[in-house]
Amino acid sequence: MPELPEVETIKRQLNKKIKGKKIKSVEVRLPKFIKYPLKEFRELVAGATIINISRRAKLLIIELSNGYCLVTHLKLTGQLIHQGEPNKHTHLIYYFTDGRHLVHNDLRQFGFVKVVPKKELARFLAKEKFGPEPLTKEFTLKAFEELLNKRKGTKIKPLLMDQTWLAGIGNLYSDEILFLAKVLPTRTAGSLKPAEIKKIYQGIKKILTLAISRHGSSADQYVDAAGKKGSYLSLVKVYRREGKPCYLCGAKIERLKIGGRSAHFCPKCQK
Ligand SMILES: [Zn+2]
Repeated sequence: MPELPEVETIKRQLNKKIKGKKIKSVEVRLPKFIKYPLKEFRELVAGATIINISRRAKLLIIELSNGYCLVTHLKLTGQLIHQGEPNKHTHLIYYFTDGRHLVHNDLRQFGFVKVVPKKELARFLAKEKFGPEPLTKEFTLKAFEELLNKRKGTKIKPLLMDQTWLAGIGNLYSDEILFLAKVLPTRTAGSLKPAEIKKIYQGIKKILTLAISRHGSSADQYVDAAGKKGSYLSLVKVYRREGKPCYLCGAKIERLKIGGRSAHFCPKCQK
């Protein structure tokens, strides 16, 4: 699933490619994709100009000049590609007055587009109860410690992936952060020593930032807004490396189900 670095990459690229562009029309190929009456959706989008694209957790928010926002979730297999060639998984195409277009593809069809008035956006996002954004200045080591204190009995791997606790981290980056911090995914928040908490905190900032600079990871369907794969996957140390040797110690990387999700870790390096 696209996580924070993938959605952030698309956000940044779309701000370069379509910000300020006027939408001529929109083609909806899969009506269930649009969580809004279809006819109204077409009328509302046509003629609007893209003011800005922002991100909250894994949601992309496309702000239009008419006072509405298109809240888009890519879920497991969504793609937003500028000048992309439409295919059988293309459910939505935005056509701009400059002759260019943006396709929204989704193989598994779990994604969606919701229409939210700008003035109701804050209330809409509040209802989602997202945790803090890890790459903001406000997310300090102290703030992280306070978050951990609230959930002492929870295992650290599912905690890092809990969007209501901390926004944007999923399966891949939580595995990599815990490897970097040398902490086992099964450890509870309350069992972590101050030095381990600091390493996890630094790992969150470091790995997410590095992954954005690499345009994310293309483990499954993800491509960026130019239709290109992200290159972070070549840097992963444990994610989906079950049975392969650890780059640091040579032990075999193991996989364990925790809360229905696979955790990948080195049984020797991580304590
Ligand atoms: Zn190791």
